[in-house]
Amino acid sequence: MSGIIHVIEGLWVTFRRSLPRPVTVQYPEERPHIYPRYRGRHVLNRHPDGLEKCVACALCAAACPTGAIYVEAAENTEAERHSPGERYARVYQVNMVRCIFCGFCQEVCPTGAVTLGPDFELAQYTRADQIYSKERLLVPKPDANTGVQADTPAPRGR
Ligand code: SF4
Ligand code: SF4
Repeated sequence: MSGIIHVIEGLWVTFRRSLPRPVTVQYPEERPHIYPRYRGRHVLNRHPDGLEKCVACALCAAACPTGAIYVEAAENTEAERHSPGERYARVYQVNMVRCIFCGFCQEVCPTGAVTLGPDFELAQYTRADQIYSKERLLVPKPDANTGVQADTPAPRGR
């Protein structure tokens, strides 16, 4: 008797799998579902007070297996302070042509400054546009009244 039940269960699984199910989405009208741990375009995060989390230690550049990250540091001054540390990233670039989205840069960053966000739309017309500058990666300053950052994916792990 139990053998027949197992056969019926097996046939039921086969029947369910044989029903046609859509595997495509009508992109760009229909947005694909992005899983929470998806590693897309880099994001440079800020502290809640608006200061940049990046202190230009260049650990991310050292850890990157493809040499996709370029960091140039500069000193903060009291008159012009960008980050809480002594230094900030005057230049921060990610070459998306080289990047393999391994996430090492995010793992080694001591301040949670760089995270890989959900943005997967990275097609460009020129190679030069594939160099993402700090200005393109840095999240906007938080709203002065609410403290809420616009378009900011939550940093993971820190
Ligand atoms: S995700 Fe990997 S390959 Fe891309 S910049 Fe970071 S460390 Fe380099
Ligand atoms: S993103 Fe993180 S690891 Fe890279 S330079 Fe800035 S603080 Fe250092």
